[in-house]
Amino acid sequence: MPAGGYFGRALVVDATDGSAATVPLPDSVLRAYLGGAGLGTWLLHRIGPPGVEPLGPEAPLAFVFSPLVGTPLTTSAKFAVVAKSPLTGLLTDALASSQFAIAGKLTGHDAIVVTGRAAVPSVLLIDGDGARLRDAPDLTGLTAADTDTRLRDQLGRGWRVAAIGPAGERGVRYATISHDGRHAGRGGLGAVMGAKNLKAIAVRAATKVASADPAAVLAAARDLRERSFGPATAKYRELGTLANLLAFNAISALPTRNFQSATFEGAGRLGAGSGGPAAGSAEADSAGTGSAGTGSAGTGSAEAAGAAPANLAEMRRVARSGCASCTIGCEHIYRVGGGKKARVEYENVFALGPMCGVSDPGAVLAASASCDDLGIDTISAGGTIAWAMECAQRGLIDAPWLRFGDADALLRALDEIGTMSTPLGSLLAQGSRAASRTVGGDSGTFAPHVKGLEMPGYEPRTLHAMALGLAVNARGADHNRSGAYEADLSGDLDRTDGGDAHVAAAIETEDRAAVMDSMILCKFLRGVFTDPFAEWAGLLSAVTGWDLTAAELRATARRIVLAKRVYNLREGWRPEDDWLPARLLEEPLTLASGREARLTPARLRTMIDGYYKQRGLDCEGRPAAAIAVDLGLA
Ligand code: SF4
Repeated sequence: MPAGGYFGRALVVDATDGSAATVPLPDSVLRAYLGGAGLGTWLLHRIGPPGVEPLGPEAPLAFVFSPLVGTPLTTSAKFAVVAKSPLTGLLTDALASSQFAIAGKLTGHDAIVVTGRAAVPSVLLIDGDGARLRDAPDLTGLTAADTDTRLRDQLGRGWRVAAIGPAGERGVRYATISHDGRHAGRGGLGAVMGAKNLKAIAVRAATKVASADPAAVLAAARDLRERSFGPATAKYRELGTLANLLAFNAISALPTRNFQSATFEGAGRLGAGSGGPAAGSAEADSAGTGSAGTGSAGTGSAEAAGAAPANLAEMRRVARSGCASCTIGCEHIYRVGGGKKARVEYENVFALGPMCGVSDPGAVLAASASCDDLGIDTISAGGTIAWAMECAQRGLIDAPWLRFGDADALLRALDEIGTMSTPLGSLLAQGSRAASRTVGGDSGTFAPHVKGLEMPGYEPRTLHAMALGLAVNARGADHNRSGAYEADLSGDLDRTDGGDAHVAAAIETEDRAAVMDSMILCKFLRGVFTDPFAEWAGLLSAVTGWDLTAAELRATARRIVLAKRVYNLREGWRPEDDWLPARLLEEPLTLASGREARLTPARLRTMIDGYYKQRGLDCEGRPAAAIAVDLGLA
């Protein structure tokens, strides 16, 4: 009898012929790895052949649920998609929320793992009748949203769909998997699914799952619901994460024009909550290279034509929405034009706006909608295009049209990438690391990635705790597996003078993320917990029936973080992969005060050494061999 909230088994489907087998998941494994990102890591260790080619048929693609899915706990309708990334060659895990999580789990499995490759473009169907393939030639080339609509029309009530767009079909290495307008975005999971010749996976609930103590779960759900309406989540409800843009600009933490600057003169047009110029905008173009871009007047753009509203605030949300089972509702839907709408978050505006020097709000929203239609990750798309714009600026690639600030160039580049219709599009579809190896010269020194994953919108030179978090993260440059920027922004430490406190903060936020991503609850809920590990232990105990404690959950967090590192080691991680792009360590930022902000290699090295020591790793970041046994992976 499995613990409450679990079925105690995973379904492993071979897409080659649709055959399926169940793999038992013992209580000991579930308790050690919980679900989501943690259990997905364990499954990759167990099912993924060492050295597997990420886009090869043997590579597993795991959809992993959690014990909280299906409970009334707010924000719990989430799942993780876990695979070896075609972008980094290492582990990637992306979380998303939707009814797909509930229907997928209620097929009767804690995880659905897909291997193999279908002979023709197909859809994988899973419900109470088991798994089966269905030919789907009519879906080829559709957006994920259109695929979802057409499939649900064809299949009837109760089916939920996760699909890829055209980019996933073509193998763009940062393609996404989408469902109900949400995306498992980072690391190229859509390309992994496309390589299996699967346009979509459709699931339909067939059973129920019980909690160990339903009354306690209901009481906890009521309490959490009340707290979710409080001040800790107000930012997400009122403005969404876009509120970060002006705040980051004001403190020189907004990466601009491929990290040539940390403030953007056009921030006032893009930030929510204010239509005026952002504080700190006088620092724009103050990067050490002195090679800022051409401004924001893209020829022929909506901005140049005077057709676009003056700022995002004017175009602001036409609706607010939320994921399934969420009482916060942080989705802010904006009008794009042509009757289209787009969900706006800080990261997509940062990556397609300041990072590419584009200040035209209409163009940024159109670019965001284009990424959704093509099915590509906005952060990697924006980062790779920004890198290419700098290459063009320096004469390293022959694309004079690809200029910083040119909205038309941004939209054209996105289309060429998503369709891989030109040599440049095919090059950029590999991501900035691989593309820089092809272009050569010094282009690798300003390629904005860690381990091959493009950087999110946090400037490491002015956010030193985050710099460490980005450098050592298993997934690469990632703001969701390390929330160390919270410490930088807290005012409790000097964010431009990294030291021991920054190391401790990076570890603490990494541990919290490991548990939240595995049990799973939305991180936007994190601020409502005053004693997180103890409160999470209480929630999980009510669902599972285990007598979990805060101390055990802290050990679980450490286990999950190390299990990811051990997987990466197996797949070829090298000590030099825990590092940041050379630009960020060699070029200082000049702040408005005239002061320089630096992150020297020596300071980063010291913080990484401190991190390794506190994590129980050797001086090269490798755990002792015995740890693999302790992790239950041997
Ligand atoms: S807070 Fe936002 S991201 Fe989190 S579950 Fe709710 S709607 Fe989804």
